[in-house]
Amino acid sequence: MASTRIDMPAGELVFREGDAPTSAYLIEAGRIEILTQQGEEAVVLGRLGPGDLLGEMAVIDQSPRTATARAITDCTLTVLGREQLNERLENADPIVRALLRGQLQRYRAALATLRGDGDAQRAEDSGEREADVDGGAIGKIRLENQLREAITTRSLEVRFQPILEIATQRISGYEALIRWDHPERGPVSPAEFIALAEETSLIVPVGNYVFERVSEMLATFVRANHTPLPWVAVNVSARQLVAEGLLEHLVAVARRDHVPAQAFKIEITEGLALDVQRVATLIERCHELGLQVALDDFGTGYSNLAHLHRLRFDTVKLDQGFTRQMVDDQRSRAIVQAIVTMVAALGADLIAEGVETAEQLELLRVMGCRYAQGFLIGRPQGADDALARWGTPG
Ligand code: C2E
Ligand code: CA
Ligand code: CA
Repeated sequence: MASTRIDMPAGELVFREGDAPTSAYLIEAGRIEILTQQGEEAVVLGRLGPGDLLGEMAVIDQSPRTATARAITDCTLTVLGREQLNERLENADPIVRALLRGQLQRYRAALATLRGDGDAQRAEDSGEREADVDGGAIGKIRLENQLREAITTRSLEVRFQPILEIATQRISGYEALIRWDHPERGPVSPAEFIALAEETSLIVPVGNYVFERVSEMLATFVRANHTPLPWVAVNVSARQLVAEGLLEHLVAVARRDHVPAQAFKIEITEGLALDVQRVATLIERCHELGLQVALDDFGTGYSNLAHLHRLRFDTVKLDQGFTRQMVDDQRSRAIVQAIVTMVAALGADLIAEGVETAEQLELLRVMGCRYAQGFLIGRPQGADDALARWGTPG
């Protein structure tokens, strides 16, 4: 919505205490004072000048004006409509919105005390209003803090799901999957807390934590003299990709643990690969360091085949949906067969995800898919179990 400008002569009121809020104002020129009535007396709460905003509080929490605004000199104001501000607010981060509303309530309560308005004060004292500001947003902040603590106390667990080389019937590698056993809520799905971690920069320490646990796991294989060493695929999300030093950290951790960095594989989800230039650069840097890169969740809807030829993935992971459908659905089977052929032609390996039945595994073998991952092969397991089962047929 377009904002409009108004001119206001000295002495005129912009709004009055008790008015319903329709707009906020940005002072372009002139000075304005904010007043509140205390008994018979008008108390000046503040004086504002060019660049200052006024009247936004009542618009934000949609309650009557709690003060009066009067032009001290001739003024020019830009009017910011209620819808315009609310649209911004609705699009803002829910946590920022909750913080803002909390602050407003506190300010209003302080104002009420100044005026000797007992009811408003009691509402603030009971703490009720703050609690229902935005329960979801506050809950998220709490979860975020608990997640931060879980990193410090190392109470996040990294599990390893085995990946079978179909032709040789041997486990070749693992995918590292994170788990959080929350002290009150029990296990929290990574689908929930990874999304939360991605909203903040917390995903970076979470990701580094996973690198460290994976490196420790690989070190036990090195110490046990297991050759060839299995590879471990680590999921990397968008925000980690843009953070500085992701690969440098990985390489430093591997060096510390005397693990070849080449044993790590980076998994990036298909949706992310839309940022072709960034991903192409990442793949190039990984290859310089000897790391392999896998395209995760292939076929979930974002595939842009036109870009695929520019992105030199070493591995493509076929999404579980295809594995599930292909047994009963001839058309899905035809698509999987085409993907097997295409991926081979691009010089990459294919891993089918979500393999749960012997029938699915057999179909994949016949079609020429190289690797299989899923509950049939093995559930995500602790590092000790992975080491104990290493070398046994899948
Ligand atoms: P994803 O990368 O596609 O991981 C595979 C998911 O499928 C895992 O769920 C795994 O437990 C599950 N799965 C494996 N085999 C089967 C099967 O046969 N049937 C069925 N129904 N499911 C199977 P999980 O562990 O809950 O992880 C969910 C998602 O969370 C992952 O999807 C990944 O996107 C993300 N994630 C997990 N760990 C990390 C991590 O360390 N960092 C990041 N950035 N994301 C992670
Ligand atoms: Ca994955
Ligand atoms: Ca996947």
